[in-house]
Amino acid sequence: MHLMNNKDIRVRFAPSPTGFLHVGGARTAIFNWLYARKNNGKFLLRIEDTDPERSRGELSEQIIRSMKWLGMEPDEPIVYQALNIKRHKEIALELLKTGNAYYAFETAEELEAQRKIAQHNKVPFKYNRASLNLDEATVQKYLNEGRPYAIRFKVPGGITEFEDIVHGNTSFNNSDIEDFVVLRSDGSPVYMIAVVVDDHDMNITHIIRGDDHLSNTPKQIMLYKALGWEVPEFAHLPMILDEQKKKLSKRRNPVSADEYKKMGYLPEAMFNFLTLLGYAPFNNREIISREELVNEFTFDRVNKKSAVFDKKKLGWINSEYIKNTSNEELLKLMKESDYFTMSGIHLNEFSEDYVLRVINLMKDRLSTINELADYGIYFFADPVNYDEKGLQKYWIDEIKQVFSEFFDEIKNLDIWNNVNIEERLRGFSEKKGIKAAGLIHLLRLSVTGRTVSPGIFDILELTGKDTVIRRISGFLQKN
Ligand code: GLU
Repeated sequence: MHLMNNKDIRVRFAPSPTGFLHVGGARTAIFNWLYARKNNGKFLLRIEDTDPERSRGELSEQIIRSMKWLGMEPDEPIVYQALNIKRHKEIALELLKTGNAYYAFETAEELEAQRKIAQHNKVPFKYNRASLNLDEATVQKYLNEGRPYAIRFKVPGGITEFEDIVHGNTSFNNSDIEDFVVLRSDGSPVYMIAVVVDDHDMNITHIIRGDDHLSNTPKQIMLYKALGWEVPEFAHLPMILDEQKKKLSKRRNPVSADEYKKMGYLPEAMFNFLTLLGYAPFNNREIISREELVNEFTFDRVNKKSAVFDKKKLGWINSEYIKNTSNEELLKLMKESDYFTMSGIHLNEFSEDYVLRVINLMKDRLSTINELADYGIYFFADPVNYDEKGLQKYWIDEIKQVFSEFFDEIKNLDIWNNVNIEERLRGFSEKKGIKAAGLIHLLRLSVTGRTVSPGIFDILELTGKDTVIRRISGFLQKN
């Protein structure tokens, strides 16, 4: 299908594999993916692995896995940037040939000294173009001597202007931009040229990325122009801040998509939540599926202002998705998660039917899947201790005797189900002239160890008579 300008939309997500997939990166990937899906375009993945010290193979794999988890797979084979280094160098040298770049012979120490002086004078440092002003004979002489050199792009005069899809008209004074390096003295190309060459070679039509790249854009546009290449469209997405309005940082928050998976968030909920970091759906909807987002996605609804990563909201969104996920699907996710085994819960040791019923009882109370292990451990193991405050409040002298009597009563109950147990408890309370609540609290405390749980009669039915009797006996012995 052909769209605007008869040109098929091609976008890319271009993470550097220097860490796990960051939630900010995941958000960028999502916006690219949504834009491609909405416009029947192509969504591509380019792993920017040119930094041999920082890029690690397993991190690339991890990024790919996290994207798959979020339901995004590239439409064409993954491009590994490191494989294109030769081409990046060729293009840098072409810039030299066409007079758009020049040899720069300053050593790192010389540049550092100049930077220090600028700092001292409190002026922004900008390379002084000394090498550009060398005459040809000197340049030749230096080259013959084998002096190391970098290649710098010759920034033209004037202004660089573009229509950012999110920010609108954006312009930079070229005089504020220094002649940046395109090829380092060790012969390695820099990000600035690699990204332009690869985006061109991959026929990328729209570059959608974080605001942190906005200042790179004029440099990249200059490179496109110098190379005589068509300049793609740009859309810069708002930054994501934490609740203190600071840049999301590992030190304060989990930041990798994988960590959220491990904490028990559902991929659909994560996708929904991350989209809201910068996108305002029609009718202010907050729970919105991937399909609905694909249908409605438009850059007109992308905010310019930074978005706040609100963990409470993520919890709420996740709880909504948990409620709407089948028990069977939740069970599958729980079995895949290490968290349950780490919590001492071996789901495979219980019948599937039992665990599905546990999930059914608990799912409306969970904001992560892991919370089933945190809040529902008593479905899988006898309590080892009892809520301190609960004991003080409910295990009081006046009721101890009655509770033991009630225990004897239910030991003899023939039909063990929630209705019967409740009936027996209410009848017993009436006979004894006490409030039913006192016994209910103690049943909960002795069987679950806690003061909060879903309906206690459902729990008693589900965990079964033998378990309940064993637990109450244990409670009476220990307290
Ligand atoms: N590799 C760059 C990064 O991880 C992104 C490059 C781009 O989107 O232009 O930040």
